[in-house]
Amino acid sequence: MKITEEVYSWAYALTPRTVTTDLILHHEAAKGTTPQQIHAYHLSKGWAGIAYHYFVRQNGTIYRGRPETMCGGHTANYNYCSIGICFEGNFENEYMCDAQLEAGQALVEDIVKRYPSIHVGKHKDYNATACPGMNFPFTYIANPVKGTPEDELKADEDTPSEWAREAWAWAMKKGITDGTKPHDTVTREQAATMLWREAK
Ligand SMILES: [Zn+2]
Repeated sequence: MKITEEVYSWAYALTPRTVTTDLILHHEAAKGTTPQQIHAYHLSKGWAGIAYHYFVRQNGTIYRGRPETMCGGHTANYNYCSIGICFEGNFENEYMCDAQLEAGQALVEDIVKRYPSIHVGKHKDYNATACPGMNFPFTYIANPVKGTPEDELKADEDTPSEWAREAWAWAMKKGITDGTKPHDTVTREQAATMLWREAK
């Protein structure tokens, strides 16, 4: 994983961070497409400069923002204890492309390795905001070691859909199904056997 270094001129001195308990993920929601644009936008708000520690472009480039040892300015009430990553794009109405997703996974994995008890969260878990957007692929980015989209699909294989949960539990209790493969299709002979089991 490569971090691209940027030179920023800070409006005032940054504050060193003494605790690191949270890793908070954001989207930039059209505030700029380069780290320097984000930096300029945050300066215009009267802040020290770019408020995130990392900025991940859609092409997969990871830029450094504030030094990781300094407090960020990305999440009200949690800047003293967190690292903030911002992803280019607006995931309220966009979907993340593979290059950005893979860069995000690698970056989160690297930070989690260095701070093993860190809690990875979405900005909206901390403040009243839609950030990082409803299409943000949080599970894939936050658990890069534990899971892939394929693993998640596999786990779903044995879980019935929300609307079918009660009926599925009933059918298992009645011995009509053994509870495996709730999403598989049924042949006529299987359907007849299921009806026969209930009628018996
Ligand atoms: Zn945010």
